Amino acid sequence: MSDVTSAELRALMAHVPSVEQVMASAAFVTLAGEFGRAQVLATLRSALDGWRAAALSGCASVGALDLPELTASVERSLHERNRARFRTVFNLTGTVLHTNLGRALLPDTAISAVVAALTRPANLEFDLETGKRGDRDDLIDELMCELTGAEAATVVNNNAAAVLLTLSALASRKEVIVSRGELVEIGGAFRIPDIMSRAGAKLREVGTTNRTHLKDYDEAIGPRTALLMKVHTSNYAINGFTKEVTVSGLAPLSKERGVPIAVDLGSGTLVDLTQWGLPREDTVRETILAGADVVTFSGDKLLGGPQAGLIVGRRDLIAKIKKHPLKRALRVGKLTLAALEPVLQLYRAPELLAERLTTLRLLTRPADAIRAAAERVQPALQRAAAERYTVLVEPMFSQIGSGALPVEVLPSYGLVVRMTDGKRGGRQLLALEKKLREMPRPVIGRVADDALRLDLRCLEAADEAEFVAQLVGPEE
Ligand SMILES: *Cc1c(COP(=O)(O)O)cnc(C)c1O
Repeated sequence: MSDVTSAELRALMAHVPSVEQVMASAAFVTLAGEFGRAQVLATLRSALDGWRAAALSGCASVGALDLPELTASVERSLHERNRARFRTVFNLTGTVLHTNLGRALLPDTAISAVVAALTRPANLEFDLETGKRGDRDDLIDELMCELTGAEAATVVNNNAAAVLLTLSALASRKEVIVSRGELVEIGGAFRIPDIMSRAGAKLREVGTTNRTHLKDYDEAIGPRTALLMKVHTSNYAINGFTKEVTVSGLAPLSKERGVPIAVDLGSGTLVDLTQWGLPREDTVRETILAGADVVTFSGDKLLGGPQAGLIVGRRDLIAKIKKHPLKRALRVGKLTLAALEPVLQLYRAPELLAERLTTLRLLTRPADAIRAAAERVQPALQRAAAERYTVLVEPMFSQIGSGALPVEVLPSYGLVVRMTDGKRGGRQLLALEKKLREMPRPVIGRVADDALRLDLRCLEAADEAEFVAQLVGPEE
């Protein structure tokens, strides 16, 4: 039975102040001022219930109710309850465009534009010249055309939406010819055959997984053909005995038979990345020049902007796309447009891009600089981890991510944590990984090959200071 006699229990309970008395105390008035009365009251009630239950169960450790302790506990609960679920983290995964960690980080000019758009009214759909209602696409379509060589442009919520809208507007109840080698699935729920049926278009597969010829497209074109579609095989590569018909290879057939070419470029870069030693990707401009009539691509992959789906191409086709009712459902918000314009403007000065565009700066960060950062940070991590872990600076390879150039890797450096005793330490390494993930600003690395690996490519100067400060903790 209980260690507390009923007389003792009565005595304990007698000292419990009423909820009203507690709420009237100075500390609780302050809490109510911050969190609101209802929330403080509910938290206090549940704390008191907890104390009462413990006392009634005869728990010997429960003494008389301690008001300062109760206050501290309620305050902790309130802070915990109201801590943002949406948190910023350290991306030390080595994947620069990490879909689960929010993809591209935006440059400062985009950030100030977003802040302004958040706090002030803007000409989102208001033509400042005529004083009449405007079209939100007008804010960026000229710039998109300038940078891609397209006649017209529009923008929607993401590239999946761009593909869905394009197919719905141009190929509903018609056929779309796609090579079997390009029927891709991109991360989770985006599969070309599914999007096709959602858009009400009939997929007409041609060729084989590894080889598709021009005559395959030619023979498949019929009276119901609306589009020849090409899809960037973003996240995998077909090697060996392969044959693909390029956009320029398809262009004469498309002209002759009067069937437009739609290209889902996926990442869709606006500049030739080889000038920075990065792997080659067809640019949007090259794709248009090669004969594509509509091109769709993401805003937050290699482009380095906010989440968005950009659609560029022939004026008549873009007009049709813009008129489709789904456009309204898939349109972008003002924050996206505010962020997109300054990012696109950076592309007008390509020689400065690697410094100004965060994504490109991270992708081109020299391995030496990353190594130096790793050496600066190593002692702090070694000290924070117990002696049974050994932290070393080692070379590793980063990835671009988001299905961009999947087979290519970027030489990098990072911290590698192993068990000091040379054991594999699977569970301990996972425990350390979890501990880092539970820090105020969670640190996201990965455990592979009996080591915890933290790639420091994405830890730039300001983050480096914060990372070390967090490891060191409040005053050592
Ligand atoms: C990433 C990707 C998509 C989806 O783009 P989101 O912007 O994530 O919606 C579609 N197609 C291809 C080829 C892609 O690489």
